[in-house]
Amino acid sequence: MIDFNRPPYIGTEPEYMKEAALNHKICGDGPFTKKCQEALTELLGVPAVYLTTSCTSALEMAGLLCHIKEGDEVILPSYTFCSTADAFVQRGARLVFVDIRPDTMNIDETKIEDAITPKTRAIVVVHYAGVSCEMDAIMDIAKRHDLRVVEDAAQAIGSTYKGRMLGTIGDFGCLSFHETKNFSMGEGGAIILPTLDQRDEAEIYREKGTDRSRFFRGQVDKYTWVEYGSSYLPSDMNAAYLWAQLQEADRINDNRLATWHAYDDAFRPLEKEGRIVLPTIPDGCVHNAHMYYVKLRDLHERTDFINYLHSHDVGCVFHYVPLHSAPAGKRFGRFHGEDVYTTKESDRLARLPLYYGMTEEDRNKVITTVLSYFD
Ligand SMILES: *Cc1c(COP(=O)(O)O)cnc(C)c1O
Repeated sequence: MIDFNRPPYIGTEPEYMKEAALNHKICGDGPFTKKCQEALTELLGVPAVYLTTSCTSALEMAGLLCHIKEGDEVILPSYTFCSTADAFVQRGARLVFVDIRPDTMNIDETKIEDAITPKTRAIVVVHYAGVSCEMDAIMDIAKRHDLRVVEDAAQAIGSTYKGRMLGTIGDFGCLSFHETKNFSMGEGGAIILPTLDQRDEAEIYREKGTDRSRFFRGQVDKYTWVEYGSSYLPSDMNAAYLWAQLQEADRINDNRLATWHAYDDAFRPLEKEGRIVLPTIPDGCVHNAHMYYVKLRDLHERTDFINYLHSHDVGCVFHYVPLHSAPAGKRFGRFHGEDVYTTKESDRLARLPLYYGMTEEDRNKVITTVLSYFD
């Protein structure tokens, strides 16, 4: 059986976790958290990155940092994971879903402006499959309407748009280190601050509403409860696990990219024959091989395709059911404009196995099985 996903594992994780345990201090912001944050700060070229307990909590911090209030509106795609929306719903926002582009499955930047009202506060973009949204157009709209931009870069660590790292272009970026992502700490994530403007505020929300970080920097002489907040710090034990993987980031990426390109080379002829639709990587975008998907004719053919792969021992899964069709999505939001692509394209999409450690033999088995389906 070729699994759809296997969580990344390098082999040095237990060593670092043992080291963390022997420190007898595995609470948040320990030595491994510091190491991960330094590595991420350097990789992303930003002044501050903070590990969080998940991308969901990084998004919640972004909701706090955007000062979202009851009745504000947030524009986002419906084709995403519920956390993208939930973080803003928790602050009292109404969701305004706009359609996606069929080529990248990302928010259609040309549909955003029409959805803006006097209540709009923020645009939340999702870089699906680690492929960038059209950020120049989106940042331009945000600037003209004085809106905040949050990048849900859960799938996009290491991907770039016109040479800029995803998660560093908007006001705040959110990463995930869940075990389904390119690098894992089990459950975990990070918030990226492209400027230091709201650093103190971010630290306060992350540390239970206290100014503990300012205290450790010697900026205040005792720490106290100054604001509302939560506890978004992961244990240093989890950070130790992530540290092992960040050190091998290139090896993980290269292996994932090799699988991605093997699939892409093998399936392009099918696309030429009009049998299948493959992912588009727009000019100026470099991706991190987070995902490989194919699009079948419709829901019926997709079901048939997934069943066929399963019966040949190849894992294959569909993805998001659009949020505007979910009970909470209906309650908290509305779809602006026509749903031309969101439902139709999500119904046809199937994801193929892609994880660190896939061998050439694994890839070939997936490729021959997919090709045999179309025979
Ligand atoms: C995985 C994912 C999340 C949630 O990440 P967690 O770390 O599990 O909270 C949010 N948004 C997108 C687009 C994701 O892929």
